[in-house]
Amino acid sequence: MGSDYLNYFREPPPAATDAGPVYQTEEGAVAVTFDDGPSLITEQILDVLRQKNARAIFFMVGTQIESYPSLAQRAAAEGHFIGNHSYSHPYFTELSMEEQEAEIVYTSELIKNVTGIVPQHFRPPYGAFNEATLELCRKHHLQLVMWNADPKDYMFNTRKVLLKTIKPLLFSRAILLLHDLKRPSAEVLPNIIDTIRERGLGIAGRI
Ligand SMILES: [Zn+2]
Repeated sequence: MGSDYLNYFREPPPAATDAGPVYQTEEGAVAVTFDDGPSLITEQILDVLRQKNARAIFFMVGTQIESYPSLAQRAAAEGHFIGNHSYSHPYFTELSMEEQEAEIVYTSELIKNVTGIVPQHFRPPYGAFNEATLELCRKHHLQLVMWNADPKDYMFNTRKVLLKTIKPLLFSRAILLLHDLKRPSAEVLPNIIDTIRERGLGIAGRI
C-alpha cells in the first residue's frame, strides 16, 4: 500500500445532487455500508478494508462517536466515507421536525469536529423517515441513503450462515446494509469483498 492508495481515497466525495431517498448505487458496483458504529469491532473492519484496499461507508451514531472518537478518526483518515446516522438512534417518525433537526445538525457538527469530514449522507435509524426528514436533508445538503440489500446481519452469530445469507445480495447496484456491532459481520468481510470482486463488480466509491 503506497501513497497512491491514500491519494485515491482522499478525493472528496462528490456533492449530493438531491436529497434522495437513494436505494441503489452505481451500475457494476456494490456499496458496503456499516451502521451504528464506531464500536469495539470497528478496528477489525478497518484492518480488513485496509488489507483488501477497499472502501466502505460508515453511518455513525453520535453517542458512539463520543465513546470511540479515535476510531471515527481512523476511519476518516483511511479514506472511508462517514455518514450521519443521528445522535441517539431514535425513530425519526416519532420526532417533531425540531427534534429531527437537532439530531441531524448536532451529529454532523460532531462528525466534523472529530474527523474533519462534513458528512454528505444521512441514513435514518431503522430506515424510518417522513417528509420533514427529507426537507431537513434538503436544507442541510444531505442525501438520505437507504439500502436494497439487507441480510439482517445483527441476527447471526455464526459466520457460515451469515455469509450464505449475504452472498445472494451482492449484485450490481446493491447498497449492502451491515452493522458495525457484532463480530461475525467483521469476520465475513474479507469473503464479502472477495465475492464482490469475483463477480466482476467493484466496491462503490460513492453512493
Ligand atoms: Zn442504525
